[in-house]
Amino acid sequence: MHRQFDGTLKHQHDKAHIPHSFAVPDGTTAISITLDYTCESQAVVPPQISLSLFDPAGARGTRHNNGDQSIRLTQSTASPGYMPRAIRPGEWTVWIDVHRLLEPDVMTYSIKVELSAAPTDEAPVAVTRTPPTPRGRGWYRGDLHAHSLHSDARFEVAELVQFARDYHLDFVTLTDHNTASGLAEFDSLATDDVLTMGGVELTTYYGHALALGVREWQEWRVGLEGLTMSELARRVIDGGALYVIAHPTSVGDPWCTGCDWQFADMQPGSARHIEIWNES
Ligand SMILES: [Zn+2]
Repeated sequence: MHRQFDGTLKHQHDKAHIPHSFAVPDGTTAISITLDYTCESQAVVPPQISLSLFDPAGARGTRHNNGDQSIRLTQSTASPGYMPRAIRPGEWTVWIDVHRLLEPDVMTYSIKVELSAAPTDEAPVAVTRTPPTPRGRGWYRGDLHAHSLHSDARFEVAELVQFARDYHLDFVTLTDHNTASGLAEFDSLATDDVLTMGGVELTTYYGHALALGVREWQEWRVGLEGLTMSELARRVIDGGALYVIAHPTSVGDPWCTGCDWQFADMQPGSARHIEIWNES
């Protein structure tokens, strides 16, 4: 069974979130979603989009990677950016998040959804965690903000940990853009010499913030249904995570969408931590 959505996006859709809903019948075992788009870009910077996917129970993830927008899900496996979990019957929605679409560009797109009820033989990736031996109080050197191919970086999760080890860091934190899908594997790679920690980078259209300690997909779409950044920060902090304004004076739109901090209600508002390194 398959479903297809075709559409056209222009500059008026810049910074929008565009939903496409489809029904998943009982007995579905695998879902494949492919986004194809064409844009003969004549703008100073080409379009940038991501896909966010929701099942009837909530978010399955976001893939913040312009070069790869395909999704495949089974109960036990998922493409980078998305969480493996039971395939629930009901209404699912895939959203196109338009991070950047400048004049005069016009994008035509096609989303193809394929549903399968065939038995799958994909086994879950086994991840186990052996907690590192506590080293007690002291000064430690590490990184609180890093990405993997679960969003837009080139590192496999294991390569990131090895990179940290090669640089003799005591800890490294995986904070992929708008997804926690790499954290289970990242956790499993902690050793006595490198502690692995996790969170997400809330990569909104108007500023980025780290939510350190968040373990699941976190709503990041400020502006959608009136969500403000201060409300989003409150949710993160109330959930016990550390909220950090990321690279507030980086170069921003259109070169790096949302990379500079534009929230008048969070200067710094409830944020108690701000990055002083200002690359994107
Ligand atoms: Zn960022």
